[in-house]
Amino acid sequence: MAKLAVIGAGFGGLALAVRLQSAGHEVTLIEARDKPGGRAYVWEREGYTFDAGPTVVTDPACIEELFALSGRDMADYAELLPVQPFYRLFWEDGTTFDYTNDEDRLTQEIVKLNPADAAGYRRFLDYSGHVYREGYEKLGHEAFLDFRSMIAAAPALMRYEAFRSVYAMVSRYIEDERLRQAFSFHTLLVGGNPFTTSAIYALIHALEKRGGVWFPKGGTHALVRALAKLFEDLGGTILLGNAVSRLETEENRVSAVVLADGSRMRVDGAASNADVVHSYADLLKEHPRGRAAARALKRRRYSPSLFVMYFGVRKTYPDVPHHNILFGARYEELLAEIYGKGGRLPDDFSLYLHHPTATDPGLSPEGASTFYVLAPVPHRGHFKGDWDLLAKAYGDRILAALEERLLPGLRENIAVRHHFTPMDFERDLNAHQGSAFSLEPVLRQSAWFRVHNRDNEIGNLYFTGAGTHPGAGIPGVVGSAKATAKLMLADFA
Ligand SMILES: Cc1cc2nc3c(=O)[nH]c(=O)nc-3n(C[C@H](O)[C@H](O)[C@H](O)COP(=O)(O)OP(=O)(O)OC[C@H]3O[C@@H](n4cnc5c(N)ncnc54)[C@H](O)[C@@H]3O)c2cc1C
Repeated sequence: MAKLAVIGAGFGGLALAVRLQSAGHEVTLIEARDKPGGRAYVWEREGYTFDAGPTVVTDPACIEELFALSGRDMADYAELLPVQPFYRLFWEDGTTFDYTNDEDRLTQEIVKLNPADAAGYRRFLDYSGHVYREGYEKLGHEAFLDFRSMIAAAPALMRYEAFRSVYAMVSRYIEDERLRQAFSFHTLLVGGNPFTTSAIYALIHALEKRGGVWFPKGGTHALVRALAKLFEDLGGTILLGNAVSRLETEENRVSAVVLADGSRMRVDGAASNADVVHSYADLLKEHPRGRAAARALKRRRYSPSLFVMYFGVRKTYPDVPHHNILFGARYEELLAEIYGKGGRLPDDFSLYLHHPTATDPGLSPEGASTFYVLAPVPHRGHFKGDWDLLAKAYGDRILAALEERLLPGLRENIAVRHHFTPMDFERDLNAHQGSAFSLEPVLRQSAWFRVHNRDNEIGNLYFTGAGTHPGAGIPGVVGSAKATAKLMLADFA
């Protein structure tokens, strides 16, 4: 039995801690904030429950597996509610599109926009199924530690034209520009620009179609709490509100974890779920490996940040579904500005609107509703404006747009409101450049090119979470935990 530390209680850290503890190791999960969850934090204000981040839960099987490892049933810890439609998409010309895995309904929606695309969609679905099997089922939870593993994956990457973008691949099958957006925007949920993210990410379509879209009763944080409880039921220890300040090493091994309160824990191994740059640059700054890895990582490309505004409203909107995407007038150009080095905040925005009380009315006081809205914005490396000064006016403009397009009477009924900006991603989550999703998921930063699940030099230092393979999103980071756990369980057998 080894004494192991997991640093950070995001979904990746929780999943890894559960796997290690289920295998009989003595695991301590150390989280800087007062609650577990990381990006999936929660705020409760005046009877409104605001999940901070992930809201679209896909591939529930990858989470159920964490309970099954110790013979438990997830149903005893959390309840997942189905969400239909998966998303409603809105364009400025008044067109809407309900995105669902109900084959007939989806075909009707496609035909409504462009009848000729119904056949093309079938071919896209076929492609998506192939890359899902290859990229997710086979490789989504395998560590890429050496270049040989990348070479082994190369034939499949070539066969499925991974060097093309998701948008380019969708456009091969689908003509209508709105439908091209409808089948390519998903990469944004994991930090990727559909115009530059590898076509392999078209697998998200098959993933959602097979596994459905779900929402935990009580909100996403109810699922976080379920995993934390599972870990504690297994005998694991969680320390909250106590950041790791550095890792001590002896030769090329982590020997101890030092916490912000000054305490020190000797360990046989440590895994970081914290931001990858922070882990190397700050926690390992006393080791040459930490400084060198941080320098190299700082030169890489990071996903954009997000402006997220949470608001409770003293009225209900029964016709507004749970997940809504409001496209702005520009798509490709807007994304190019958000992802590019232009150094400015675009005036326009595309929005994701989360309306959890459509599925679980218990998340607001009676007769009221809970929302959050997010706009992708450049990260702090590209746009250096002071969000503490900008946020109020930026949020006001978004509320005005929502009121005009979707939520009549909104502004006079807002009961509570707060926001989370790129500066908060930096301050509260130690996120490099305030990126919401860590390393951008482009092909040359994927698999072996991402941060390795086990460090190349410090043999008992591991990583899990959005910066590692396979990448961001709940299924991604839970898959990364599986890959990392395989390595750790073999190393500490
Ligand atoms: C607004 C938003 C919406 C999203 N929507 C979706 C969605 O709908 N569906 C989906 O699948 N994905 C979504 N994502 C992506 C998904 O939430 C993330 O990719 C995933 O949750 C990241 O998990 P992680 O394991 O990398 O850890 P993180 O959530 O990044 O957690 C890392 C943890 O490490 C802690 N930490 C940092 N430094 C230290 C330290 N020194 N000591 C101790 N602890 C430390 C942090 O406090 C944090 O709790 C969304 C993300 C955001 C931001």
